[in-house]
Amino acid sequence: MEKKDIKSWNQKELEEYLVSLGEKPFRAKQIYSWIHEKQAASFDEMTNISKKLKEDLKNTCRLVTLRQVTVQRSKVDGTEKYLFALDDGNMVESVLMRYHHGNSVCISSQAGCRMGCRFCASTLDGLVRNLTPSEMLDQVYRIQRAAGQRVSHVVVMGTGEPLDNYENLLKFIRLLTDEKGMHISQRNITVSTCGIVPNMARLAEEKLQITLALSLHASSQEQRLALMPVAKKYEIHQVVDACRDYFQKTGRRITFEYSLVAGVNDREADAARLAELIAGINCHVNLIPVNPVKERNYRQPEPRMVLNFKNKLEKYGINVTIRREMGRDIDGACGQLRKGFSERQGEV
Ligand code: SAH
Repeated sequence: MEKKDIKSWNQKELEEYLVSLGEKPFRAKQIYSWIHEKQAASFDEMTNISKKLKEDLKNTCRLVTLRQVTVQRSKVDGTEKYLFALDDGNMVESVLMRYHHGNSVCISSQAGCRMGCRFCASTLDGLVRNLTPSEMLDQVYRIQRAAGQRVSHVVVMGTGEPLDNYENLLKFIRLLTDEKGMHISQRNITVSTCGIVPNMARLAEEKLQITLALSLHASSQEQRLALMPVAKKYEIHQVVDACRDYFQKTGRRITFEYSLVAGVNDREADAARLAELIAGINCHVNLIPVNPVKERNYRQPEPRMVLNFKNKLEKYGINVTIRREMGRDIDGACGQLRKGFSERQGEV
């Protein structure tokens, strides 16, 4: 019998299971607190649980705990990139960023990705599998424990497309924000999507207070198609409309991510067209000079081009920031840590 993944369960599900083992319901509260509040890495840490129950749990359940394979620390800004191994040997990466407003962890939602964005390293080898809620949670738990500091913000912007793993993502968010668990504020969670329209609509209906970030990266359908195959399925205006709806239903301001690629989408005319495309949406644009990936030949625009682009958008009254590059000295683009590691393993 496959062991049960109890870290993916809410307190009610845990209680039902413990009662089925003949335990009292209050045990669920204790064990839930060990898992999600104290973030125990093993059943043995649960000191107020009887030996018998611990044995029962060990025999029938798994306490999914990621194994830290490597960590790289930036000397410039304290950013830390973690590579974790899952129980089946797959690897995922997560990043801790230290900001004035608190510590933020960027997590992966899938091992690999099937979206195929042209500039992204995470998708080069396709999707391996979805991560479970417990595997998403444990990236945050392990990092908070390793850093010895409270993590206050979580961004789902690592490897994978979160809205391609919708059910698990939702469970993860509910557990992460549970007041009896780590209790991260919904407002401090950002989910980034390449634009899976039906699931953006579903997410809007959940009425969560999380921030939705849309990876737009283009100002026309044609330009977006050249960078993001997902545009074949969902046309750019459909995606932008889904953002408009998300704001209307949740009151949460949208973030548009726009990777600037030299000679592809960085001209002033692109900025003007972008401003027109998103006009009237309560939003914020985050400009990200593209991070070069060695398998592709995309280049970052000159800093002066980036600034021009920002100024142009601002002239249209749009809120813009240029993303501060964190951990410049420790690695390249998203997904490169995991990919670099598996390639080096392959060479051995
Ligand atoms: N699948 C989700 C989340 C993961 S990617 C999404 O598409 O939003 C997180 C962000 O990093 C996205 O905006 C993605 O387009 C961007 N990104 C990926 N590779 C990049 C690169 N090489 N340079 C700059 N941004 C990149």
